[in-house]
Amino acid sequence: MPTRSTKRGDDRTPIAGDYDVIVCGASFAGLTVARQLTGSGARVLLLDRYDVGERQTSACGIPTAWLHAMGLEGSARQEFGSLVVHTPHGTSRYDLPWTFSTFDYRELCRILLDGCDAEFETAKVEGRASSDRERPAPRPSARDEGRSVTIATDRGEVSAPLVVDALGWRRVLASAGYQPPDAPLSRGLEVHPPGPGDDLEIWIDRRYVPAGYGWSFPAGEETRVGVGSFDPRFHVKDTTVLLAEDLERDAVRYQGNWIPHKLRRGAEDRVFFCGDSAGHCLPLTAEGIRTAFYFAIALGEELRGVVEGRKTREQALRDYAAFNDSHEWKFNWLLRAQRAVPSFPARMQRGLVAAAGRKRFVDWSFGHYLEIAHPRFAAEHARTGDPSRVPVAA
Ligand SMILES: Cc1cc2nc3c(=O)[nH]c(=O)nc-3n(C[C@H](O)[C@H](O)[C@H](O)COP(=O)(O)OP(=O)(O)OC[C@H]3O[C@@H](n4cnc5c(N)ncnc54)[C@H](O)[C@@H]3O)c2cc1C
Repeated sequence: MPTRSTKRGDDRTPIAGDYDVIVCGASFAGLTVARQLTGSGARVLLLDRYDVGERQTSACGIPTAWLHAMGLEGSARQEFGSLVVHTPHGTSRYDLPWTFSTFDYRELCRILLDGCDAEFETAKVEGRASSDRERPAPRPSARDEGRSVTIATDRGEVSAPLVVDALGWRRVLASAGYQPPDAPLSRGLEVHPPGPGDDLEIWIDRRYVPAGYGWSFPAGEETRVGVGSFDPRFHVKDTTVLLAEDLERDAVRYQGNWIPHKLRRGAEDRVFFCGDSAGHCLPLTAEGIRTAFYFAIALGEELRGVVEGRKTREQALRDYAAFNDSHEWKFNWLLRAQRAVPSFPARMQRGLVAAAGRKRFVDWSFGHYLEIAHPRFAAEHARTGDPSRVPVAA
C-alpha cells in the first residue's frame, strides 16, 4: 500500500494568496510546467489531491533519451534495447533503434519537484468557481482580456491570470468533460508483482483483449503486467489477472485509469490544458508520458513569455492552441492504426508483426514514431535546473 502523506482534517486550511500561475495536477504534465517556470519570478501554486508521487498512474516506460534530456535519469530502473511482440501464432523480437526504460514514479516526481520553485498544496480541484462561470459564452472576448480565472477547490477558491489544467483525462476545468464509456477513452489496468524480468514484452492476443494489447514491463525489483483496451466497454480486470497467471506472477498492487486516445483543444475559456487533459497520450501505443513532458515544456515557455512580459495571455492561449493543433494529423494517423489493427484476422496480425520486425522497417517506423515528440525538444528547451544548460527559446 502506498504511504499517504496527503493533508487531512485540520491540516486542510483554506488556501489563500495572489498567484501568477496555478498549475492543477502535479504529475508528469503539471510538474513539468511548474519546473519550466522556475526562476521566472512568477508566484506559482501547484495543486494535487494527493501528495507528489503518491499515486502511480502508469507502467512508467519511456524512451531513455527523454529521461536524460529531462535530467531524470536518476529515476531509471531498467533499460531495454529490444521489444518482444507475442501473438497467438508466433513471437518476434524487434531490435530498437533507441532504447526504452522503465522508471520509478515517486523518484521521478521528486526530481521534478526538487527543480521547482512553486508552492505545492494538496487540494481537490472541483472545477471553475461559479463566479467565474457567470459569463455568456466560452469564447474569448475583449472583456476577458487579462481577467483572472477562479477555481474552486475543497480548500477554498483561488485565482490567477494563468491557470493550467494538468488534471488528467477528466479535464476538470473545461466546460464539458468526458464520460466513459461513450468518450474516446481507452482503459488500462496493471498489477505490480515483485520479481525481476529481462524483456520488454507486449501481447497482441484476443485472449487478453479484443482490441488493445497486454504488456510486461520489468522495472528492477518489480514487473508491471497489464492490459489496455481501446474499447472502453471491455473490462480488463479478468484478463489482467489471466496474463499475470500465464506469466506465473502474482496479481498484486493494482493500478489503472482511463486513457484518452483523441487530441483535444489545448486552450479553452482562458485555461491551458496539458497532458491527458488535452488528449496528449498517443493512440495505438497509449504512450502519454513523453508527450505530457513535450507539451508541458512548450506550455511552460508560453507562460514564461507572459510572466516576463513578452506576450499577453491571449497571445499565449492562441500560440499554444496552434502548437497543439499542429500535431493533430500525427495523432489522427495513430488513431486510424488503432482502429484498423484489431480488425485484422489473427493470422494476418501475426504476418504484419513478423513483417514489421525487419530491421530496416523497425528503424524507419520507430524513428518516425519517436519524431512525434522527440527528446531533442527537451534537450533544447527543458529547464532542468542545470545551469550549464541554457534552453533555446521554444
Ligand atoms: C495502466 C496504465 C499504464 C500506462 N503506462 C504507460 C507507459 O508505460 N508509458 C507511457 O508513456 N504512458 C503510459 N500510460 C499513460 C500515462 O500514464 C498518461 O498518459 C500520463 O500519466 C498522463 O500524465 P498527466 O500528467 O497528464 O496526467 P496524470 O498522470 O493522470 O496526472 C493527473 C494528476 O492530477 C491529479 N488530479 C486528478 N484529478 C484531480 C482533482 N480533481 N483535484 C486535484 N488533483 C487531481 C492526480 O492526482 C494526478 O496527480 C499508462 C496509463 C495507464 C492507465
